[in-house]
This record gives sequence, C-alpha cells and structure tokens, in this order.
Amino acid sequence: MPGFKLVGREARQKGTVVKVGNTEFGSNKVAIIAGPCAIESEEQLLETALAVKEAGAAVLRGSAYKPRSSPYSFQGLEEEGLKIMAKVKKKTGLLVETEVIDARDVALVSKYVDALRIGARNMQNFSLLREVGKSQKPVILKNGISSTLDEFLCSAEYILAGGNKNVILCNRGIRTTEPELRFPVLSGSTALLKQKTHLPVIVDPSHSTGNSSLIVAASRAAIAEGADGLIIEVHPSPEKALSDKRQQLTPGQFKSLMPELERVAKAVGRGL
Ligand code: PEP
Ligand code: MN
Repeated sequence: MPGFKLVGREARQKGTVVKVGNTEFGSNKVAIIAGPCAIESEEQLLETALAVKEAGAAVLRGSAYKPRSSPYSFQGLEEEGLKIMAKVKKKTGLLVETEVIDARDVALVSKYVDALRIGARNMQNFSLLREVGKSQKPVILKNGISSTLDEFLCSAEYILAGGNKNVILCNRGIRTTEPELRFPVLSGSTALLKQKTHLPVIVDPSHSTGNSSLIVAASRAAIAEGADGLIIEVHPSPEKALSDKRQQLTPGQFKSLMPELERVAKAVGRGL
C-alpha cells in the first residue's frame, strides 16, 4: 500500500488548483515565482521585486531564514528579513513567499507572507509538516535531494492529512553522479509526478542546475514537460549575492527569459 492517499490521483482525477492570493497554480496558466535567493536588504529586495513584476512574475520569492550546509555561511536576516518582505509587498503589490525552517516559526512567518516554502532539507521534518498542515496558508513543498517521488508525496500527505489542502509541489532535483549540475531534475520526473498526484507541480531550475547559463534551457524543458509553474532566482548583482551567486539571473536576463517561456507555454497549449 502506498503511504499516501489524499494526494494521489486516485483520490481526485481532476488537477487541483492552489491559489496564492489571486494567482492560480495548476490552471492552464504557468505561474512564475521569482526573486533573490536570500533577502539581503530593502534596496536589494525592492529593486528585484520591481524588475520581476515588470517582467510578469506573479509572486516574489526571498528567504529570511537560510538553512545552509555550513554554520559559517550567511544564515539570513530572520525577522528583520520578514519585515523587509512585508514592506516590499506593500510597495509593489506583489504576492510574496518565503521559507520556514522551524515549526516554532510557522505562526510568525505566516503573518508576513502569502505562501510558505518548505525547503529540500526539511522535506522530512515531520513536526514542521504537521504544523503547516494546521494552517490554511499555501505551502510550496520542495523534495529532498535524495528522496524518491513516493517519499515526496508522503511528505505532502502529512500536510493534507493535517487539514491543509493548499500544497504546491516543487521539483528541485536530486543528487546524481554529475558534479557539473547541482541537483538535476530527472527528465520525466515532473510528468510522472503529475500522473501520480492531482497537486500542482512547479520546477526550480535555479537550485537544480546551479548555473545561471542553464536557466533558459531548464525552464523551457520544465514547461514542455507539464510544470504548472517555475521558481527562479533573480538578484540585482548576482556576483555580490550572499548566497547562490552562480545561479541567480540578473533582472535583464529574467526579462528576456519571460517571452521565451511564453513561447514554450503556448506550444504546449498553455499560457503564462
Ligand atoms: C531555496 O529555494 O531558497 C532553497 C534553499 O532551495 P532548496 O531548499 O531546494 O535547496
Ligand atoms: Mn538559493
């Protein structure tokens, strides 16, 4: 018996549409989330937000809590970052999302954002999954870097079983033997996830390739395979970023990416 039922296609043949504010994930339109890896300052977030909004992104991303491999790396601005996010949301009218890394922070983080993100390192943080399950905030759940698709779906099941149906799965790739790609999204994995679950599935080309020069190709591939959205890192000066320098797009690169994505979306019968 699979360890999930509520998230399975058998439970619901029709795809679920999850709304973040008025933006739909899982409809005919491919929704774009964009913004910096981490919130570094109000100027940095506002500049990015204005650029991604103009280019057509629906939701601004940005992390205030950074679960880093090394304890010596930048850990995020924490609540100060959340306050910056709230200011930028007010100034731009954009919807906003951010990562929550600890069950004890769910209530606090929820006050500031339209959607919560659970990162790869916390896919099996069961107390965190249970806590967001008690909320009605949309949750963007990323797969762990060595998890199987069924394990990923079991983690989503915790949230639905807790009472929160608003889950968006994010395929961010897994560890492979190829050192030049950070965590590749396996070809076919997005299509297979969509067969197995009715939940919307988005793809993260930034953390999967780890390389800004591959974002266009990886994004096109994701949409062609049926992704309901993308989450893309954009920074005003990627070379100065406090995290993930190599993979963040400049605002100009993001602006030229969007029409490319619209072409692919149209080719597969969808819009952007
Ligand atoms: C992120 O999206 O900010 C992030 C840290 O990604 P992941 O959890 O997929 O590594
Ligand atoms: Mn990042």
